[in-house]
Amino acid sequence: MTEPALISRWIHELTWDVVEARLKKDDVVLVPIGATEQHGHHAPIMLDTAWAITSSVAAAEIADCLIAPPMHYGWSYGHMGFPGTIGLRAETLTAVAVEIGQCLVRHGFGRVIYVNGNRMANLAPLEIAAVELHLETGAFAAVVDCGLVAKEEIAALMDGPPGTLGHAGESETAMVLAHYPHLVRMENAPPNRQEEGSRPKLRELHITLDPRQEGNSWYVPRSPEAFREQTIGRLGVVGDARRATAEKGVAMVQAIGRGIADGIADARSRPVTIQRPPIRG
Ligand SMILES: [Zn+2]
Repeated sequence: MTEPALISRWIHELTWDVVEARLKKDDVVLVPIGATEQHGHHAPIMLDTAWAITSSVAAAEIADCLIAPPMHYGWSYGHMGFPGTIGLRAETLTAVAVEIGQCLVRHGFGRVIYVNGNRMANLAPLEIAAVELHLETGAFAAVVDCGLVAKEEIAALMDGPPGTLGHAGESETAMVLAHYPHLVRMENAPPNRQEEGSRPKLRELHITLDPRQEGNSWYVPRSPEAFREQTIGRLGVVGDARRATAEKGVAMVQAIGRGIADGIADARSRPVTIQRPPIRG
């Protein structure tokens, strides 16, 4: 029988027989995981899930693979001072990611790639999930981060000074302007309030959204109240959202898609020996 028409890359938009037919020729699946957290007065709360969705679609078109339904919840405790933010505990996020992976491996997806749209916040829980899934099933499991898989391309596309590609800033706003323009209110985007040239003694994140940021770092958690207090002057924004354009957003997502597709090609070349996980009730 010939393969049924692939009318969508999204598993939840297909019928089960189409998924079964695909599994006879390919075992790669992307699992987009974002967050539901504030992104200023100008950009939607679903922005981090939008990273995971748009990057997964771009990659899947190039690499010819399927995508699991997007997960809109991530680790967002730092934004709980802002209404609308809904997050999972870190161990819940890890458990959900592992269980999604177990279902996919059970069906025959031997290569599970978590596409993270919520940056440094989701990274540790998802890396632990990938380790657990691999150890339990033998599947190839990996995490790819939308901000870290095309660093050079993103740096080249952005205009703001180093250190200003922050939360809901230039790069994040460009992505939603390109792919969700009806959800963006650029008239509400605040001017950059980043203090240029100054560097706090405890730079409080190991990884930032800005690939051009250099220097030494710490990780120091901030309470949601302190984070709101610190960023309220910037309206929940870190960086310069006004420099965003849709053109930059299109180019950025394409670069991320290419970066993920390159990794998929590598993943396909690796042998995997699967132990199917049991069905759990
Ligand atoms: Zn974000």
